[in-house]
Amino acid sequence: MNIGIKLNKDDFMYDVHSLVKSFYPDDDVSIFTEDDREKCALQRDLLFELTIPDYRDRKAAKDALKKDLYHLLAALTGQSLPWGTLSGIRPTKIPMKMLDKAEASGRPMADPVLKEEISHYMKETYETSDDKIDLAIRVASEEKKLLAPLKLGDFSYSLYVNIPFCPSICLYCTFASSPIDRWADRIEGYLDTVIREMLATRDRLVQKGYPAKPTTVYFGGGTPTALSADQLDCLISRMKEIWDFQDLEEFTVEAGRPDSITADKLQVLKKHGVSRISVNPQTMNQKTLDLIGRDHTVGDVRAAFDLARKIGFDNINMDMILGLPGEGREEVLTTLEEIQTMDPDSLTVHSLAIKRASRLKQTIREDREKDGQADYGNFEGLVFENSEDLMDLAGDCADRLGMVPYYLYRQKNMRGNLENTGFARPGKACLYNILIMEEKQSILAFGAGASTKRVTGGGRIDRIVNPKNVEVYMEKWRDLVKKKAALF
Ligand code: SF4
Repeated sequence: MNIGIKLNKDDFMYDVHSLVKSFYPDDDVSIFTEDDREKCALQRDLLFELTIPDYRDRKAAKDALKKDLYHLLAALTGQSLPWGTLSGIRPTKIPMKMLDKAEASGRPMADPVLKEEISHYMKETYETSDDKIDLAIRVASEEKKLLAPLKLGDFSYSLYVNIPFCPSICLYCTFASSPIDRWADRIEGYLDTVIREMLATRDRLVQKGYPAKPTTVYFGGGTPTALSADQLDCLISRMKEIWDFQDLEEFTVEAGRPDSITADKLQVLKKHGVSRISVNPQTMNQKTLDLIGRDHTVGDVRAAFDLARKIGFDNINMDMILGLPGEGREEVLTTLEEIQTMDPDSLTVHSLAIKRASRLKQTIREDREKDGQADYGNFEGLVFENSEDLMDLAGDCADRLGMVPYYLYRQKNMRGNLENTGFARPGKACLYNILIMEEKQSILAFGAGASTKRVTGGGRIDRIVNPKNVEVYMEKWRDLVKKKAALF
């Protein structure tokens, strides 16, 4: 379907687009003003005209516009959205802010009236459902508890290292990742550049009075364990010469793809004090794994997990995705049963987001161009659905495993307009995930596509994103160091 929204002025266009897409995820939606004659003249299957009145309070005007549009779309489609009009802001930020404010004024966190005030605000402003409000408050309270013992201040930071290579590229992927085979003879050069970037940044920061002591370290990507054992050993050893890892709160390596995990790599990580790893099945249904381009079997997941336990990892996370092609209740239950048998320490439940740059979206687009229908090409007839029912199944499994929700975020174009939630057992949560999601600490990030974030106590957040393209990054790293130094 072709949907148009005509506004009387070019304001809140992004917000309006996001909300309409939430109701019509697979349709073409364009937002334009009266001045855009070309777009005004186009034939549409659905056309809405919205008037934004003059306003003084921008946030109040935006909230009111979104609420009106929400009611219109809900009536038209007969649907409601679990998070209501909430978009462009992390759901936990709202309760977190209100809890922080209450704490600063000396109110007890367990005060039931406080919970009611948060619920009332989220319901009135965003039309969020009771279940999601409850989830957001639970997560924010858990985050506050977990962050309380940390010494966070303007001079503290965590490190992120990006390894943008994977054994193969998953169909839904939009991360900056390349197949490792194609880079085999240039990996050493890439790692060398990462180390140079780190060393030069560390020197500049130390000159400015920062300690060379990160709070947490996180290796992500891509798939860090796509590197060889020797490459991992060399990278971490060199990092330890640059930074003081003595009092690290946490060292996470997203091993991720089971087909990249071997005993020698795990032993290297263990030797260097890596405290948390991920072994990510995404699904335990072989048919789906094949369909989404993950070149591994369900047996590989079990084998990698068992191996990591045998080598002594006592904090292993598993990621799963809901809304994968052809997966409904039965397939999700299979995955959850298998996960429960493996018994990980934390579980991250993602809702599939079909993003513009993914091969999945490309497949859909090409197919539509061919015959005018968005029928998912090779995936014709397969559902791509996530629902609150499936999220509840995953939440119940986490509950049986003794886990509680501790971080939560949403992305654009998520199936079912739901969320990604991290669950963990006591003592097994990933602090880095909370620090980055809630923007509670600066993150110094290295490597292609890595995003550095400077967070100051006053609530100001500045960013520098390294080029995604590995070659461009390797060429420009010196400029990036200068920019980072200026930011801190
Ligand atoms: S493992 Fe992750 S980063 Fe690598 S291709 Fe798959 S989704 Fe992308």
